[in-house]
Amino acid sequence: MRILRQRNSAILRALIIEDTRKTMALLITHKCINCDMCEPECPNQAISMGNEIYEIDSDRCTECIGHYDKPTCQSVCPIDNTIIINPAHKETNEELWDKFVILHHTV
Ligand code: SF4
Ligand code: SF4
Repeated sequence: MRILRQRNSAILRALIIEDTRKTMALLITHKCINCDMCEPECPNQAISMGNEIYEIDSDRCTECIGHYDKPTCQSVCPIDNTIIINPAHKETNEELWDKFVILHHTV
Protein backbone atom coordinates (compact mmCIF):
# COMPACT_ATOMS: atom_id res chain seq x y z
CA MET A 1 0.00 0.00 0.00
CA ARG A 2 2.83 2.39 0.90
CA ILE A 3 4.55 1.68 -2.43
CA LEU A 4 1.28 2.32 -4.26
CA ARG A 5 0.85 5.67 -2.51
CA GLN A 6 4.44 6.65 -3.32
CA ARG A 7 3.91 5.69 -6.97
CA ASN A 8 0.67 7.70 -7.17
CA SER A 9 2.42 10.67 -5.64
CA ALA A 10 5.32 10.35 -8.09
CA ILE A 11 2.90 10.24 -11.04
CA LEU A 12 1.07 13.32 -9.85
CA ARG A 13 4.33 15.18 -9.29
CA ALA A 14 5.49 14.23 -12.79
CA LEU A 15 2.33 15.76 -14.22
CA ILE A 16 3.03 19.15 -12.68
CA ILE A 17 6.79 19.27 -12.34
CA GLU A 18 7.22 22.11 -14.85
CA ASP A 19 4.14 24.01 -13.73
CA THR A 20 4.93 26.63 -11.09
CA ARG A 21 1.92 28.84 -11.83
CA LYS A 22 0.76 30.67 -8.72
CA THR A 23 -2.73 29.67 -7.68
CA MET A 24 -4.80 30.27 -4.59
CA ALA A 25 -7.38 28.71 -2.36
CA LEU A 26 -10.81 30.28 -2.64
CA LEU A 27 -12.97 32.21 -0.20
CA ILE A 28 -16.69 33.00 0.07
CA THR A 29 -17.70 36.65 0.32
CA HIS A 30 -20.67 38.20 2.11
CA LYS A 31 -22.66 38.04 -1.14
CA CYS A 32 -23.39 34.44 -0.10
CA ILE A 33 -27.12 33.76 0.35
CA ASN A 34 -26.60 30.41 2.13
CA CYS A 35 -28.32 28.50 -0.64
CA ASP A 36 -26.49 25.27 0.32
CA MET A 37 -25.48 24.49 -3.27
CA CYS A 38 -21.71 24.50 -2.91
CA GLU A 39 -21.15 22.56 0.30
CA PRO A 40 -22.17 19.08 -0.94
CA GLU A 41 -20.30 19.58 -4.24
CA CYS A 42 -16.84 20.14 -2.77
CA PRO A 43 -14.72 17.01 -3.28
CA ASN A 44 -12.51 17.92 -0.33
CA GLN A 45 -15.13 18.76 2.31
CA ALA A 46 -13.56 22.21 2.43
CA ILE A 47 -16.87 24.10 2.68
CA SER A 48 -18.88 24.38 5.87
CA MET A 49 -21.38 26.72 7.49
CA GLY A 50 -19.71 29.51 9.46
CA ASN A 51 -21.25 31.95 11.92
CA GLU A 52 -23.25 33.76 9.23
CA ILE A 53 -22.36 32.36 5.84
CA TYR A 54 -20.57 29.40 4.35
CA GLU A 55 -16.79 29.34 4.66
CA ILE A 56 -13.91 27.61 2.87
CA ASP A 57 -11.13 25.91 4.79
CA SER A 58 -8.02 26.97 2.85
CA ASP A 59 -6.15 23.94 4.22
CA ARG A 60 -8.54 21.68 2.29
CA CYS A 61 -9.28 23.78 -0.83
CA THR A 62 -7.26 22.66 -3.84
CA GLU A 63 -9.19 24.66 -6.46
CA CYS A 64 -10.63 21.20 -7.24
CA ILE A 65 -7.35 20.08 -8.75
CA GLY A 66 -7.42 16.33 -9.42
CA HIS A 67 -11.23 16.33 -9.56
CA TYR A 68 -12.47 19.03 -11.94
CA ASP A 69 -11.03 21.37 -14.58
CA LYS A 70 -12.26 24.39 -12.62
CA PRO A 71 -13.53 25.07 -9.09
CA THR A 72 -16.88 23.32 -8.88
CA CYS A 73 -18.15 25.53 -6.06
CA GLN A 74 -17.88 28.52 -8.40
CA SER A 75 -19.70 26.56 -11.10
CA VAL A 76 -22.72 25.80 -8.91
CA CYS A 77 -22.93 29.11 -7.03
CA PRO A 78 -25.94 31.08 -8.34
CA ILE A 79 -24.54 34.47 -7.28
CA ASP A 80 -21.77 35.89 -9.48
CA ASN A 81 -18.44 36.70 -7.86
CA THR A 82 -19.41 35.26 -4.48
CA ILE A 83 -16.66 32.64 -4.43
CA ILE A 84 -13.37 34.31 -5.27
CA ILE A 85 -9.65 33.68 -5.01
CA ASN A 86 -8.15 34.17 -1.57
CA PRO A 87 -5.11 36.44 -1.91
CA ALA A 88 -3.99 35.46 1.59
CA HIS A 89 -3.37 31.87 0.45
CA LYS A 90 -1.12 31.93 -2.60
CA GLU A 91 0.01 28.43 -3.58
CA THR A 92 1.80 26.85 -6.50
CA ASN A 93 0.14 24.16 -8.59
CA GLU A 94 2.55 21.68 -7.00
CA GLU A 95 1.45 22.71 -3.53
CA LEU A 96 -2.18 22.18 -4.52
CA TRP A 97 -1.31 18.72 -5.85
CA ASP A 98 0.49 17.93 -2.60
CA LYS A 99 -2.65 18.91 -0.73
CA PHE A 100 -4.71 16.66 -3.01
CA VAL A 101 -2.38 13.71 -2.33
CA ILE A 102 -2.46 14.28 1.43
CA LEU A 103 -6.27 14.55 1.44
CA HIS A 104 -6.99 11.56 -0.77
CA HIS A 105 -4.02 9.19 -0.89
CA THR A 106 -2.82 8.82 2.66
CA VAL A 107 -4.20 6.44 5.27
S1 SF4 B 1 -12.52 25.13 -5.27
FE1 SF4 B 1 -13.07 22.95 -5.10
S2 SF4 B 1 -11.87 22.26 -3.33
FE2 SF4 B 1 -11.94 24.49 -3.18
S3 SF4 B 1 -13.73 24.92 -1.91
FE3 SF4 B 1 -14.40 25.00 -4.06
S4 SF4 B 1 -15.22 22.96 -4.45
FE4 SF4 B 1 -13.95 22.80 -2.61
S1 SF4 C 1 -23.38 28.31 -3.62
FE1 SF4 C 1 -22.79 30.46 -3.37
S2 SF4 C 1 -24.57 31.47 -2.44
FE2 SF4 C 1 -24.86 29.26 -2.21
S3 SF4 C 1 -24.03 28.77 -0.18
FE3 SF4 C 1 -22.35 28.47 -1.63
S4 SF4 C 1 -21.29 30.44 -1.71
FE4 SF4 C 1 -23.27 30.81 -0.75
